[in-house]
Amino acid sequence: MERMDKLLSSTGLWSRREVKEMMGRGRVTLDGRITKKPEEKCDPEAAIITVDGKPVDCAPFVYVMMHKIAGILSATEDRHQQTVLDVLPEYLQKRGLFPVGRLDKDTEGLLILTDDGAMAHRLLSPKYHVDKIYYAKVDGIIESQYIATFQEGMILGDGLHCKPAHLEILEDGTACYVTLREGKFHQVKRMLAACGAPVVYLKRLSMGSISLDGNLEKGAWRFLTKEELKCLKEGMKES
Ligand code: URA
Repeated sequence: MERMDKLLSSTGLWSRREVKEMMGRGRVTLDGRITKKPEEKCDPEAAIITVDGKPVDCAPFVYVMMHKIAGILSATEDRHQQTVLDVLPEYLQKRGLFPVGRLDKDTEGLLILTDDGAMAHRLLSPKYHVDKIYYAKVDGIIESQYIATFQEGMILGDGLHCKPAHLEILEDGTACYVTLREGKFHQVKRMLAACGAPVVYLKRLSMGSISLDGNLEKGAWRFLTKEELKCLKEGMKES
């Protein structure tokens, strides 16, 4: 159970002082009746709250799907360059969202942002078996012998032991799908470079059950649906 003032201010839309003022003026309802008590408690998952007659989503966490474009950083802030947080409206920026697993500046595709730290940890930890699928175009040709190398767990030049991964070669070897359960620094690029096929274009297509929405324009974002979130949570099995 949460206090009304805490819950409403956690949306990032109003400060606690503003919430108190709104409530005092009778602008807030809880389950169909006006409440003027900031200290009143309710269940954030079940309560129906409105401000000025409009429903307010007070879910404890926010989950965003973004179609990241090349040229912006997967960071929460940067003094000189645009970040994925800059793309979001101010009320979401204020909630303290962060990207779940970084994409390189020049990588495009699916990025999930949330303020749910536990969920982010599970999405990234190899223990929870969340596959991340990438599409890559390369300079050169990926030889079929590397399918087995990926499967066995590649060892990179700097000694990094990669976990077993899946390589599907496309378009006569000039492109591929790579499926990873981990996310080491520049991992796809380093693995393909080790096959003599440096990456020239990289896009993340999916994370677990969440695929990049084909209707989401480059640079656009939307909230994950309840169904997507449910499937994502159900799909994460600890080993
Ligand atoms: N692997 C990479 O090399 N870059 C990314 O952005 C993501 C995975």
